[in-house]
Amino acid sequence: MSMFGQVYTKNNQYKIKGDFHHLTPNQPIRNADDGWKLMGVTNPRDMTYIHSYGGEAIFFESLGQGKLMATRCDNPDCEGHGTVYQPFRIHCMDCLRKCTVFDMTDLAKKSAKIHTFMVCERSGAFNILNTPIKFINVEFEGVDTILMSYLSIGNPEIGMRVVPIFQTLNPTSTILDLSWVPDGTAEKELPEGFSF
Ligand SMILES: [Zn+2]
Repeated sequence: MSMFGQVYTKNNQYKIKGDFHHLTPNQPIRNADDGWKLMGVTNPRDMTYIHSYGGEAIFFESLGQGKLMATRCDNPDCEGHGTVYQPFRIHCMDCLRKCTVFDMTDLAKKSAKIHTFMVCERSGAFNILNTPIKFINVEFEGVDTILMSYLSIGNPEIGMRVVPIFQTLNPTSTILDLSWVPDGTAEKELPEGFSF
């Protein structure tokens, strides 16, 4: 019986259990214009990729706990000393030293605004967001970079005040655990599993 591939780490090593690839039969590709002669085969490939978050793990873990973490360069010798990164960056781009991690949830709640946006009617493979997807670039007071995310309710406008929402019930441990809604949205309107 097959089971989803599962991974944990112990003694600095991956410990894996379950199936990381599935055998799926190939199918012939035939030519309808020429007596259904053989042209080739399909090669189904379904495999589980082990994606390490490394120093970003705390960012993804925190989303499921309703917290938005950012980083800041605290190196006094760096020209970019005090630069705040959201999206989360492990290392400062200017001095390459490890940044300090801090919780910016309150700052996001108080100051997040839509910098610009893009509405996508179609999406690529493996997309699980509902279309149209309202991608938004979010800016924050005192933050030097702009975060790409998606708006779950309403229609985006440049300058619109938004607040973060988090998938705290059954989090996916991915960036999809973070989304945004217009400031003033009621808790009961939030998508299932999300909270402020
Ligand atoms: Zn720096």
